[in-house]
Amino acid sequence: MKALVYNGPGKKSLEERPMPQIQMPTDAVVKILKTTICGTDLHILKGDVPTCERGRVLGHEGVGVIEQAGPAVTGLERGDKVLISCITSCGKCENCRKGMYSHCAHGGWILGHKIDGTQAEYVRIPFAETSLYKLPEGVEDEAAVMLSDIFPTGYECGVLNGKIKPGDTVAIIGSGPIGLAVLLTAQFYTPAQIIMVDVDNKRLEVAKSLGATHIINAGDEQAVEKILELTEGKGVDAAVEAVGIPASFVMCEDIVAPGGVIANVGVHGSKVDLHLEDLWSQNITITTRLVDTVTTPMLLKTVQAKKIIPTKLITHRFSLDEIITAYEVFGKAAETNALKVIINAG
Ligand SMILES: [Zn+2]
Ligand SMILES: [Zn+2]
Repeated sequence: MKALVYNGPGKKSLEERPMPQIQMPTDAVVKILKTTICGTDLHILKGDVPTCERGRVLGHEGVGVIEQAGPAVTGLERGDKVLISCITSCGKCENCRKGMYSHCAHGGWILGHKIDGTQAEYVRIPFAETSLYKLPEGVEDEAAVMLSDIFPTGYECGVLNGKIKPGDTVAIIGSGPIGLAVLLTAQFYTPAQIIMVDVDNKRLEVAKSLGATHIINAGDEQAVEKILELTEGKGVDAAVEAVGIPASFVMCEDIVAPGGVIANVGVHGSKVDLHLEDLWSQNITITTRLVDTVTTPMLLKTVQAKKIIPTKLITHRFSLDEIITAYEVFGKAAETNALKVIINAG
């Protein structure tokens, strides 16, 4: 089968690989129909994720059809169409029993990281029953791919951790796919203002079309002042960091209102200044989280009911044979205006 393989920092190739086999009775092999590329895959390619070894098939998102289910798998059978969660969970360990699947003792984020992933024709999924979701009627394949990672990430790490409530003022720093997923799912709660911040005006225009009440270019030296002005000087109830660089986290510190929340979503590769000399008395909360994907079943229902349309984030489509080009397009988003790219593997 064909698969996209990480060959060390800066190197990747589309290679011929042996078909994945069932290794444990709880495994399933899934034939991939559609997958996508995540910002995290770009981090791996930069060499930012040393736990990902050379030779690894990348990808932790996708939709496919069960090709083979291990003997201990119940409730799923050959031919079932499934959403592949970016988080693998055994469902039985202490952290899984708490609903913290991201820190499953036997799983967590392993797909396309510690075990071979979904940017391939087939993938082996451990703990298939608790790591796959049968696709409900009325949910398109492409919409479901958006629910493998970015929608539960935006919703759990941004909206739930940000404690977004009706009438709140919210600022989302970063208008990439994750920031936009926060924007769409924040609207479940009817906040009064959603201010989107990014350096890319095209992405800000997309945010406006998806429900942002205000857009601010982070390159503007007055960006912080403008956000404060929009909130009558008080700051925002929830500041969601969806970039993963020090400047955007510090911006959250500058704009959070007393009693507010800074919800970090971004993947940070370097340390960030925490201005406790200003914040110690401000009753704020800072949250971090790796997505648990506990909300995937709920999000599937909202997609089924057309309460959110995740396919609005898809800008490009490629075949698996074109995946190297897809990486180029996704990696040069400022030039190509790429948000999510769909890879058709089936
Ligand atoms: Zn991801
Ligand atoms: Zn577990």
